Order: sequence, then structure tokens, then C-alpha cells
Amino acid sequence: MKRIGVLTSGGDSPGMNAAIRAVVRKAIYHDIEVYGIYYGYSGLITGQIEKLEIGSVGDIIHRGGTILYTARCEEFRTEAGQAKAIEQLNKFGIEGLVVIGGDGSFRGAEKLTEHGFPTIGVPGTIDNDIPGTDFTIGFDTALNTVIKAIDQIRDTATSHERTYVIEVMGRNAGDLALWSGLADGAETIIIPEVEYDMNDVVKRLRRGHERGKKHSIIIVAEGVGSGIDFAKKIQDTTQLETRVTVLGHIQRGGSPTGFDRVLASRLGAKAVDLLLNGVAGQMVGMESNVIVAHPIAEALAKEHEIDLEMYQLSQELSI
Ligand code: ADP
Repeated sequence: MKRIGVLTSGGDSPGMNAAIRAVVRKAIYHDIEVYGIYYGYSGLITGQIEKLEIGSVGDIIHRGGTILYTARCEEFRTEAGQAKAIEQLNKFGIEGLVVIGGDGSFRGAEKLTEHGFPTIGVPGTIDNDIPGTDFTIGFDTALNTVIKAIDQIRDTATSHERTYVIEVMGRNAGDLALWSGLADGAETIIIPEVEYDMNDVVKRLRRGHERGKKHSIIIVAEGVGSGIDFAKKIQDTTQLETRVTVLGHIQRGGSPTGFDRVLASRLGAKAVDLLLNGVAGQMVGMESNVIVAHPIAEALAKEHEIDLEMYQLSQELSI
């Protein structure tokens, strides 16, 4: 293999730049040329492709977002779209591809491999919802962003003796809600993986209030429903003054944490190693601090699992 491509796709996450940098530098270190594909699969179809040099990825390791930009692309879901993409790859003489993104992007990577084009997936999403890795790139940064926001809300919640509902990102996965809830001592954590009982939520709130707690923090993962609706229900039931904060896209941005930069560097480099060893259709991940690889199809066939022991712990510590 003499020339590879790299793209970022789907929702962006902090640390994607560090992963791009690792792919580019690792490849060049092995005398392989690297082409950057802009705007994900969309730019792949339209040929928005440029050669990247060592300097192209200078000064980006600490930046959020992605210098290659990202996109969602309906056309790529079709056979015709995928054929166009492979045509472009052939036109540029690219022989292997690294796709940095979430599970949707991995489905696209799997399609390319099925069509005979060697593709490796690097998990980049703040949701931490990809089986085959303990952590996805961006999760730790988003977690720390949420924690900082909740710390600040906690100050004002205490001053005014209010209940706060905080909606965090996570369509199908409650990891961000669970980890931030545990890290911030939230009274209640509502996640898609565990059914909740409103009576229990109210009971916990009242109990805390009666023993003189100055505030309550409830974290709701967006996948369960709107934080605004949830706050209204709580206020109507308890008559406790309840406010809501929807954290939104601040969770996607910001300078990646040290953890995410190191994870991204290790995973990006491993993706290049795999391509150079003739491997295709695999995703890289980290399990128990070891960098591993699994077939993408295998990972996509599995359901993401939440750590139920950790959920139980969060309940026990917030009595
Ligand atoms: P993420 O990668 O963050 O999960 P999406 O689910 O939006 O984001 O997926 C990103 C892109 O991956 C889609 O816009 C589409 O181009 C491609 N993709 C998703 N699912 C498939 C699929 N089943 N087949 C081919 N391409 C897909």
C-alpha cells in the first residue's frame, strides 16, 4: 500500500483532529502518502480530496472539531453512491481508507469493505456507544464539559434552593448522563437503558429536601425525552421550584482532554498499522488499556451496554 485516505463523518467529537494527525504522521513515518477527504462521505463522492503533508496536521492536536469537516450524506447509503465513492478513491490512487466517526459512519465503512475497498473504522463520538472499545474519542472531553457546567449550576442551585434538571446528549446511550451524574453526585440519573419510576424520583427528591438539602440535580439523557417536559412534571408533582438547562452543543466542542488526545493518537496510529498489514473491515478500540481491533460487522451486531453496576452505585451514593 502506497497511498491511503482519511475522513471524518457523522457527528463530530473533540479529539478527531488528534486522530487525523496520528493517521497522517504514522503513515508518512512509514513512507505512505495520505489524502484528506473533506466533508465525510459527501466529499468522497464529489472528490473533495487533497494530499496532506506533515505540516497539514500541525497545531491541531489541541483543537476541537475536525479540520476535514464532517457531514451526513444520504447518497452514500445507496449502492450508486458507494460506487461513485470507490470511483473517486481509484481516481486518486488511494488504496485504503480510515473512517473516523460513530456507528453510522462505521456502517458506511463496512459497505466499502464489502465492495472490496479496505477500510478501517476509528470510533469518534461523545456518546461512547460503540461496542468493541471501552471509550470512544471525545467522550472524556464531553464528560468534563458536562461536569464543569453542572458544577456551575450547582452553585446557583444551592443559593436559591432549587431543583435543577439538566439534559445531556445521548440518543441511545446513557454513558454521558451516568458518568457525569456519578461525578457530580446527582440525585437522579435518567438514562435510556434503565426504566425509571416517577414516584421513585419524587420520593428521592422529597427525602433530600426534608433532610435539609439545599438543591437537587437530576440528569436526563436526551434519548429518554425532553428535559423541559421532565422538569415540568417534577415541579407539578412536588411543587419544588424546578429549573431546566439543556446543555446542547457545548458538549461537542472544546479542546480535547489529555485522555482523548492520547486515545486518538493511539487509535489513529493503529488504524494505519492495520491497513499496512493488509487488514480490512475492522475497527480499532481500547479495552483495559490495550489497543485492539475487531471486525466492524461484529461490533455493529452487538448492542451497546451500559455499566449497570455503576448505575447501581450512583443510586447508592446519592441517597
Ligand atoms: P455517526 O457516524 O455519528 O453515527 P450518522 O449515523 O449520521 O453519524 O452516519 C454518518 C454517515 O454515515 C451517514 O450520513 C451516511 O452517509 C453513512 N451511513 C450511515 N449508515 C449507513 C449505511 N447503513 N450504509 C451506508 N452508509 C451509511
